[in-house]
Amino acid sequence: MEKQVHRVAVLPGDGIGPEVMFQALRVLDKVSSLFEINFEFDQQPVGGAAIDELGTPLPEVTLKACEQSDAILFGSVGGPKWENLPPDEQPERGALLPLRKHFGLFANLRPSVCFPSLVHASPVRRDLVEGGFDVLCVRELTGGIYFGAPKEIREEENGKVAIDTMVYHQSEIERIAHVAFNAAMTRGKKLTSIDKANVLRNGILWRETVELVAADYPDVQLDHLYVDNAAMQLIRRPREFDVVLAPNLFGDILSDEMAMIAGSLGMLASSSLGENKGNGLYYGMYEPSGGSAPDIAGEGIANPCAQILSAALMLRYSLGCHQAADSIDNAVRAAIDDGMRTSDIFTEEPNTHKLTTSQMGDSILERMTSS
Ligand code: NAD
Repeated sequence: MEKQVHRVAVLPGDGIGPEVMFQALRVLDKVSSLFEINFEFDQQPVGGAAIDELGTPLPEVTLKACEQSDAILFGSVGGPKWENLPPDEQPERGALLPLRKHFGLFANLRPSVCFPSLVHASPVRRDLVEGGFDVLCVRELTGGIYFGAPKEIREEENGKVAIDTMVYHQSEIERIAHVAFNAAMTRGKKLTSIDKANVLRNGILWRETVELVAADYPDVQLDHLYVDNAAMQLIRRPREFDVVLAPNLFGDILSDEMAMIAGSLGMLASSSLGENKGNGLYYGMYEPSGGSAPDIAGEGIANPCAQILSAALMLRYSLGCHQAADSIDNAVRAAIDDGMRTSDIFTEEPNTHKLTTSQMGDSILERMTSS
């Protein structure tokens, strides 16, 4: 049988990006040998690396590679070297935001999982997270207060005034709500929608629209929380959440809170998805939740798990290779359960081993199987 071929744009970026991306590509090579799947990787510069090489954070050649691919596997961008450039020319703002905009990546899905053997890494009381903190944050990514106009700082008679505008069209709320309900259907069938309907008009429309969409998903149990209460409840009863749906600003903040509850940034993957292509698959960009970690770049000690788990999300949401995605998820979990640790998640405990980035990659590869 001919192997399926999937085109993937690979953008390693800066700092630890290239180090962890190398391990993710090893894992995808193994996927290729275990399953009937072939990849064509088109590796291109992005962020600071692209500024150095081609003078701009998102060169034409990189954008073209993404356009010609089924998905983007992204490392991370940024670092002190490029911090003093004008804001729009900086790696994050000049590459990430235009990529999201160009491909209409309106849905950010960030799973936060506290692995049972990493409970100690969570700053939240052990008894609150033990036995399964596993939440998927679905954040609206292209609307709300980050993009509404006017957006400016202007001089007025009494001094400067800053204005940001929060705008949501009902259609934007509907499409992100469908993503969240669909995700809930594949998980614990529980959805918590976040708003600030007691103060913001946006919140009233958000709640009303989510209720309307809910009618299509009678099996999903829906509840609503104001964002301030949600921030508290996530700490108070973290295990009771399954899927959390939030507008852009609130999702930005709450997803970091969830990452912190899970304990270790180096373990958390993230995906940004565009429109459903009609076959249950999305064009998407997949990346670790953390940044380029300049403090440890080049030392060979970065945790590659988030990048590897991002590759698994890509297999699941953009390429429809669920068995291969399971194989990666299970291998990462098994490596952690067997005591394999990079320094960010290492504590002196019996039967734990402190590994380098590539040793961690090895330990995951060894545990991947086709069943
Ligand atoms: P960061 O996430 O890079 O680092 C925060 C801390 O977490 C650091 O101590 C770092 O060593 C650690 N860490 C992160 N990922 C790790 C991993 N895989 N393994 C081990 N440790 C890990 O955040 P920061 O320090 O605020 O930002 C550094 C740079 O990254 C900045 O230039 C920032 O703009 C950029 N950034 C990029 C993205 C992105 O590309 N999507 C996201 C966030 C930050």
